[in-house]
Amino acid sequence: MTSHPPGRLAGDACERDPIWDRDVETEAPEDAFVRGAAAWEKQFRHLMERSPFYSRRFREAGVTSGRLSLKDITRLPFSTKAELKQSIDQTPPFGSNLCVTPAQVKRVYQTSGTTGAPSVLALSRTDIETWTVIGTRTYFATGIHDHSSVLTTFGAGPFVAGHTHFVLSRIGCRSVPVAPGDTDRVVFGLKAGLADTLLSTPSFAQYLANKMDTSEANRMGEMAHIVTGGEPGGGIPAIRDHIQQVLDVTVTEVMGIGDIAPSLFGECPQQQGMHFCGGGHVWVELVDPDSREPMSIEAGAVGELVYTHLTREAMPVVRFLGGDIVKIEGSPCGCGRTTFRMRVIGRRDDMFIVRGVNVYPSAILAVVGEFRPRVTGRARVIRKTADVSVTPPVPIEVEVADGHAGDARLKSDIEDAVHRILTFRARVDLISEQSFGESGYKTKLTVNRP
Ligand SMILES: [Zn+2]
Repeated sequence: MTSHPPGRLAGDACERDPIWDRDVETEAPEDAFVRGAAAWEKQFRHLMERSPFYSRRFREAGVTSGRLSLKDITRLPFSTKAELKQSIDQTPPFGSNLCVTPAQVKRVYQTSGTTGAPSVLALSRTDIETWTVIGTRTYFATGIHDHSSVLTTFGAGPFVAGHTHFVLSRIGCRSVPVAPGDTDRVVFGLKAGLADTLLSTPSFAQYLANKMDTSEANRMGEMAHIVTGGEPGGGIPAIRDHIQQVLDVTVTEVMGIGDIAPSLFGECPQQQGMHFCGGGHVWVELVDPDSREPMSIEAGAVGELVYTHLTREAMPVVRFLGGDIVKIEGSPCGCGRTTFRMRVIGRRDDMFIVRGVNVYPSAILAVVGEFRPRVTGRARVIRKTADVSVTPPVPIEVEVADGHAGDARLKSDIEDAVHRILTFRARVDLISEQSFGESGYKTKLTVNRP
């Protein structure tokens, strides 16, 4: 899958480091279940006693006793972001799922909120620590250890990515914080040799790679490792390989879900998908994206991930539909971890249907990326209506390097490749870098433009 060997990172044996949570990360699935079931027993009581939001929902689902085994969790209804948001809107600022007193809320993050006002995420003192523990496992798995020096482009807030600053501090690495969007400072920091690792979105890493010719990349100081997060991309071969080759680095990726934990999955330098790092604190199910029937978490399975907090105090969620469609890559790994590995295929919200076939925009990125250096790697789908079904040809905008905006041959080559690989017809518009918009820390994969 990758053309760049893990190189310098692979020889960095983790097992010597006491911060690796071996008990949890190398246990057998049966033991993970026992650990999860014990935590859930307490958590279920906590919810019944302290969450008006969930105790009502559980009763409505016919669950009234004081006990419900983890095996029977599928009897409980799913929760959605919209339902949790509604509970906050009804009784602001924290809503009817706040299971501690307001005085016990010690940290508050906000979510971007797709409709209306932003939503909030409240953490107790214990929750702050739990997020730090899960995040530490996640970033440690990616290869960030105490001897690393990490330049991070994540802001301290309002979003949950800000929690990464606590995580880096816990790992004990050198931290070089730079605010999001300050490209000059990032380049300065890397060229000056302040950091050997960059934490950024894949969009930004790609932007950096496009801006650097090889001679400049060679002067990127000590940088050997980029950890991407915040959006898919670090796991898409066409994007990953480009960043690795131009910048001579190893790319690994992380993923989190604001409502669950800011970093919950981390890819190790073996680059075989992201390990689940929330053992003992978060219970994960896989369900069929259409029927929502349970599926087993085994290599090759494609489904939607569903999350339940096992230890969260302040705003725990149960069977939360995260909206991420993933492919399970397997469990045993050269790094020694036994936790399952996965790659994100796409967001349920971004998915559209062309003649009965589900399409995720990240699949389009994988096709478009093959046309470098004429393209930059960025592309987006233009949606004319809110309909999930799209009639071909599907409008796609592709960002191109200077001088290629009028390249009719490139346009038809990309259209042919989309047709051949993804089996639908596309109408490609080539857009120059100046016109595509923001050099962006994040790239919107779909844009509504009626
Ligand atoms: Zn691994």
